[in-house]
Amino acid sequence: MERVLLIKYGEMTTKKGNRNFFVNTLYNNIKDKLKDFDVKIIKEISRMFIEFHDEDLEKIKEKINHIFGIHTYHIAYIMNSNIDEITRKSIEIMQEYKQNTFKVETKRSDKQFPMKSMEVSQHIGSAILKNIKEIKVDVHNPDILLNIEIRPYKSYIYTKTYYGLGGYPVGTQAKGMLMLSGGIDSPVAGYLTLKRGVVLEAVYFEAIPHTSIEARNKVIELSRKLSQYTNKIKLHIIPFTNIQETIYKKIDPTYCITIMRRMMYRIMEKLAKKNQALIIINGESIGQVASQTLSSMSVINQVTNMPVIRPVACLDKLEIIDIAKKIDSYDISILPYEDCCTIFVPKHPVINPTLEKCLEYEKKFDFISMIDEAINKELTIEIEEKKEEKFKDLL
Ligand code: ATP
Ligand code: MG
Repeated sequence: MERVLLIKYGEMTTKKGNRNFFVNTLYNNIKDKLKDFDVKIIKEISRMFIEFHDEDLEKIKEKINHIFGIHTYHIAYIMNSNIDEITRKSIEIMQEYKQNTFKVETKRSDKQFPMKSMEVSQHIGSAILKNIKEIKVDVHNPDILLNIEIRPYKSYIYTKTYYGLGGYPVGTQAKGMLMLSGGIDSPVAGYLTLKRGVVLEAVYFEAIPHTSIEARNKVIELSRKLSQYTNKIKLHIIPFTNIQETIYKKIDPTYCITIMRRMMYRIMEKLAKKNQALIIINGESIGQVASQTLSSMSVINQVTNMPVIRPVACLDKLEIIDIAKKIDSYDISILPYEDCCTIFVPKHPVINPTLEKCLEYEKKFDFISMIDEAINKELTIEIEEKKEEKFKDLL
């Protein structure tokens, strides 16, 4: 029997006006992810169908499991929209589930079809009972739900539901710039932002020689994990040593982290504008560390008007870890290499910083030219799911 992958869309079914745009974006994303397979993808306004070769099915499912905008998918048998053919195939399929209880559910989007949905369900249900002796109907809690979709020309039968990732197709929103450290939180923040359809570029602040090449490779591997959910991810590596050393030389230790993060935000805004991104994204979580109290966040945030989205702001660490494990970034994140934020942590960072103090400290060095210099010296790499761009030496 011929089978297809039948895809049902997620939340975007509520987007009436620009539904075509959502469907087309999803179509292009699926096409891109399945470019190495011999498949035919057919898009309709409420369903997508993928014709595939049986031997590729498991690999294709794996790809589909990483695409946002898919609510559920089903491996469906396909046939002509003819009641005799549908009945015959239904019996054939149900032979496999002899000892079980079942229920037939029919959806008829072809209003020309001569029978109503209920009539089809009843007709097929009684044909199954007549032909398979050990089987019983249970309308409330069936073991097997036999779904029949009657569409113009073709009909589909399936029994099993696979859940997709939901969310919106990547590319249905504009671009955001993710602050990607080697930690647990920021890859999760990136994943959750991709889920809303945002196109992502990542930025890593590097403080060589205080941080190692392994730390950089860790961020590259995290970007690669994220690229599974989109296509390529551009990673901007910003040399941050000069700014960081200057801060630690000139500024009271309690304020170092606050000022350092204000510098990061300033650089993020410039990079975002340069690359047509509209938001900054990071992995801050309220109260997690001194720089993430509400007063710290407020003072740090005052250097930019750009929206700063913090997808994990209200999650507990354990909830963040659950997602990190699900997206398979956790094992990379817990590798021990030092990050630029962890190397200079003062003993008593301020938890209620004031803007006045920040402005006073920032007068002590010419940060504007240092920021421009850091941006001019950035290293950009494009990271793909399959490629192996690892650095052996510092560039
Ligand atoms: P994570 O929060 O990702 O687990 P972390 O705990 O080391 O890493 P924090 O000190 O909590 O990072 O910093 C909060 C957020 O600031 C991070 O989630 C990340 O978005 C951003 N950030 C911190 N350090 C860097 C860096 N070196 N490069 C890019 N972004 C960074
Ligand atoms: Mg953190």
